[in-house]
Order: sequence, then C-alpha cells, then structure tokens
Amino acid sequence: TFHKSKGQHILKNPLLVDAIVQKAGIIPTDTILEIGPGTGNLTKKLLEAGKMVIAVELDPRMVLELQRRFQGTRFSSRLKVIQGDVLKTDLPYFDICVANIPYQISSPLTFKLLFHQPAFRCAIIMFQREFAMRLVAQPGDNLYCRLSVNTQFYARVSHLLKVGKNNFRPPPKVDSSVVRIEPRKPRPEVNHKEWDGFIRICFIRKNKTLGSIFKQKNVLSLLEKNYKTLQALQGSQNVSLSGNDDMEIARLGNESMEMDDGMDDDMDMECDEAEGEGEVSEFKNKVISVLKEGKFEEQRASKLSQESFLTLLSMFNKAGIHFS
Ligand code: SAM
Repeated sequence: TFHKSKGQHILKNPLLVDAIVQKAGIIPTDTILEIGPGTGNLTKKLLEAGKMVIAVELDPRMVLELQRRFQGTRFSSRLKVIQGDVLKTDLPYFDICVANIPYQISSPLTFKLLFHQPAFRCAIIMFQREFAMRLVAQPGDNLYCRLSVNTQFYARVSHLLKVGKNNFRPPPKVDSSVVRIEPRKPRPEVNHKEWDGFIRICFIRKNKTLGSIFKQKNVLSLLEKNYKTLQALQGSQNVSLSGNDDMEIARLGNESMEMDDGMDDDMDMECDEAEGEGEVSEFKNKVISVLKEGKFEEQRASKLSQESFLTLLSMFNKAGIHFS
C-alpha cells in the first residue's frame, strides 16, 4: 500500500521512465542524485546509465524494498541509499539530479537545489503541471510570478515532457510535467535576501502598476525603516571608527532582520495608498523619483523581464533604498 501523504505515486510506464532518463543526458561517469526513489523503477535505469546513484528516501519501508531489489545484482555497489527527508539532508556531491518527487516539497526542494554548492550540471524533475508552468513562465504569461523570476534568475529552466495522470499508480489528481533546471554559472552575485525582498514587493499585486505598489503605506514604511536603520548603522560605524559602540551596530543589525520577517503578513493585506494624507514624506518622493527616473512607474511586475527587475533594484540601491 502506498502513502498518499508522502506523495507516493509510482511511475508505472516504462517508456516514460526511459524518456526521462534519455532526456537527462546522463554520461557513464555521472554521480546521480535521486530524490524519492520509491520502489526503484527509475533508479534501475539510472544505475544502467551512470556510475553511481545516491538515492534519498523518506519512507523506511521503501528503503528496504529498494535495497532488496538491488541486493546481489551488479548494481548493489553503485547504489547508496540515504534514509531521510531530503529537505533536512545535507546533499552530497552529484553531477545530475533526476527525480519524481512528492509534489508537496516542490518549492523548498527547488530552492534547495538552486543554492546547492558546488553547482551540478542539471536537474530533471517531475512536477505538478501548474508548478512546472510557473517555473518556465515568461513575462506576460498568465502564470508568471515570483517563483518564475526567482528560479530563472539562478537557473535556465525548460519544459521537457507532459505527463498524464495515468502513468502513475495510484494516479494523482493532477497532471504532471518534467522540467529541466540548469544552474547558471557563475551564480549571480546579488544578495539573495535583497533580491527576493524586492521581487516579493513587486509581485504583491502583480497586475498593479509599480507606482501604486510603491505608494502603499506598508511598503513605504517598511522601506523607510530599512533606510533609517542603514543610515543609523552607517552613522554609528563612522563613530566607531573613532573607537565607539560596536554593541549598537549589532543591535541595529538584528532589528533590521526582524523587520524583514514581519513583512510577509502585512504584504498580503489589501493596502491603502499613503497618498492624500496632506504631508507627503520626503522618503516617498525619493522612492517615486527612482521609479520615474527609470520609467517604471506605469509598469507592472507581470510584464517585467529579469533585466528590468535588476535595473530597478540597482537604481533603488544606489538611492540608498534597500529590501532586506
Ligand atoms: N521515484 C518513484 C517512481 O517514480 O516510481 C517514486 C516517486 S513518488 C512520487 C515519491 C517518493 O518520495 C515516495 O517514495 C516517497 O516515500 C518519497 N518521499 C516523500 N517525501 C520525501 C522527502 N521529504 N524526502 C525524501 N523522499 C520523500
């Protein structure tokens, strides 16, 4: 019996398993990471194609079944099974990752792989169809979102195969797709918290103009807090050059981290614009003038390319406006 809660849908179509392995472009010297090997249908083909398979499986019963399946075969010395949750496992070195994963871990797993070092050649992963389409969505596509921008910033992604429900046992409720993720080398040098904080704000309402998003009270007050914290930090750093107050710097640093954490909840609420309140703050003018200068005021996140996001972020940063 299979565990629905562990996303156990076993690939039963051997032609599809072959197609996945073939698309992966495995070479005989490859060390392959497999996530969620289950009963080992994909594992077997991976062992035939590469040098070594490291398989991470959560369910101890599956681990046993897998070991039994390959015991005493020519593959047994080339298979290493790690029992555990892949999200909590320190991943070993691998050249390529091939996996039919439980869909509930799609997002955290994708980011774990994107930040894995040293970078691997590519990952060939089965996702729920909609998640896959979000990963590959381009500016202007319906599903273009924060996930698309973030993933494509760190990797080249492409859609490889559409996979219907009936290729699995038991069949899942949704259709699937196989996607190829190839980390960009070298990895972009941007501060990830800063980049993600910025993208998150731009996509609060992806079809609203950036002008109206950046006039929202909560957005402005968050950015202004960051701005003031940074200024205070720089101020106290200057003082500490003459031998003062390192403690103060540490404390301010921590505060700015906490503000970052508190941000998400606020951001999900429908927000007032800070306009029409009489006093238009100097800080607001600063933000708006950056948008105007780059002609971003009337643009919408749903249509912006990665390059445009980068341009806008660096313009904000130059003006001393930060997102983390
Ligand atoms: N690879 C097999 C196949 O294609 O037939 C099985 C795929 S099944 C969709 C997902 C597998 O991942 C199951 O064997 C499940 O026990 C395992 N699994 C679920 N959560 C996991 C986690 N957090 N870490 C590692 N494996 C997990």
